[in-house]
Amino acid sequence: MPVADSSLSERYQRVRERIERAAARAGRRPRDITLIAVTKLFPASAIGEAYALGIRDFGENYVQEFEGKRPEVAALPGARFHLIGHLQSNKSSIAAGLFHVIQTVDSAKLARRLDAAGRRLEVMLEVKLSPEESKRGASPGSLCELVESVRACPNLNLTGLMTMPPWSEDPDAARPYFIRLRELARQFQLPLLSMGMSNDLEAAIEEGSTHIRVGTALFGLRPRP
Ligand SMILES: *Cc1c(COP(=O)(O)O)cnc(C)c1O
Repeated sequence: MPVADSSLSERYQRVRERIERAAARAGRRPRDITLIAVTKLFPASAIGEAYALGIRDFGENYVQEFEGKRPEVAALPGARFHLIGHLQSNKSSIAAGLFHVIQTVDSAKLARRLDAAGRRLEVMLEVKLSPEESKRGASPGSLCELVESVRACPNLNLTGLMTMPPWSEDPDAARPYFIRLRELARQFQLPLLSMGMSNDLEAAIEEGSTHIRVGTALFGLRPRP
């Protein structure tokens, strides 16, 4: 991807065109697809620049990293911050105070800890559909019980499912995982699907994604941690 020598505004324009074309192919409206700009490992200024272009949803992976950036971005009106990285339950009360949406709930224990933080929170369940060791999430077989546990938490508003397929050069390789997530969401009557990244956002949109999480295609290669 030749992204390093173009501006954020040009890259954003290209991502929007990709969203529009994929939505058109699927007979969907682009405005029903939320672009989450993934800013992990980039400084808070990256959030500010994307905000200035009209982006309002941001994804961060690490509680501590975002805690550091948060003072600089907390005052941006209408900005919404999504935690898209794994959350340890001992960090749940900090996370509940920093994020609007926790997309990576994967256990009843974590849900109860988030609920106990006492703030209204939108949550999604991360589902592990790939056997890769590195992937996190609840197994499809455990979802029924987990959905029930989360729905019993008065402070948590369960809206959808999130997944991360195995990495592949071939954007179409992710499609079966997207289809599977959509079927699971339908089974539990959950309206939102967080799926699709820089490499495979078209396939995700064609399969019903409502939230795509895009880092590299907007900001270029990430700095090393
Ligand atoms: C880093 C990350 C992304 C963004 O990936 P890109 O390929 O850079 O678009 C999306 N989702 C999750 C969970 C991530 O960790």
